[in-house]
Amino acid sequence: MLALEISALRKVYRGGTEALKGVDLSVQEGDFFALLGPNGAGKSTTIGIISSLINKTSGSVKVFGDDLETDLVKAKSHIGLVPQEFNFNQFETLMQIVVNQAGYYGVPRALAKQRAEKYLKQLDLWDKRNAPARELSGGMKRRLMIARALMHEPRMLILDEPTAGVDIEIRRSMWVFLKKINQQGITIILTTHYLEEAEMLCRNIAIIDKGQIIENTSMKGLLSKL
Ligand code: ADP
Ligand code: ADP
Repeated sequence: MLALEISALRKVYRGGTEALKGVDLSVQEGDFFALLGPNGAGKSTTIGIISSLINKTSGSVKVFGDDLETDLVKAKSHIGLVPQEFNFNQFETLMQIVVNQAGYYGVPRALAKQRAEKYLKQLDLWDKRNAPARELSGGMKRRLMIARALMHEPRMLILDEPTAGVDIEIRRSMWVFLKKINQQGITIILTTHYLEEAEMLCRNIAIIDKGQIIENTSMKGLLSKL
């Protein structure tokens, strides 16, 4: 099954910037996929459209067969989004943050608490569950964003530059957690401009430049060309 199917996707922003010029992209269920490209290439726009934060100009996007246009609620339920910026309330505890997130998706409170334990443990945050988020280190905050995105048990996790601006030690620990999550069967799509990160993690890769996909191949295939 295809986790993601994008066809002829275009985005023209108000003001006229053509950020996506007809993007076609498919990602298989269970894949660990990187969208790689320089700043301004169209990575955030692509992710923003998939997670329905940005309106497309034309084209189609299907998430596990559900079209964003005709089956928006179902399509959204398949996606856990990990944005680049910390966007949780720093004064809430980790428990509050993840349990409330589940609430937005209609997960009953008792089940939300079970899941909170499962995912906070999995991301090595359980000991901090009653601490306000502002007390966490940068690496812990990033893991909190992942735990939060898993609370409605999406089939796909989308991460926008998950390790931008973090030191190599935190980056490596993030990689360990992402691999573990992918091994549980969750499809992962991330954007990055670190080739090394894609190389360490990803099975398949697309390279986007100036709003167009210029390469779409397996990681091995890409490395053999370099
Ligand atoms: P990337 O994530 O690869 O850095 P973006 O998707 O953010 O690329 O940007 C693609 C292009 O669209 C860039 O030229 C950028 O300046 C432009 N752009 C991004 N967001 C907006 C916006 N909200 N309004 C107008 N132009 C935008
Ligand atoms: P949409 O078409 O998805 O509603 P907009 O074109 O309304 O997106 O842009 C969203 C906001 O981002 C606007 O307020 C716009 O001014 C601002 N913006 C404009 N140019 C850029 C840019 N290059 N990068 C990021 N944001 C931008």
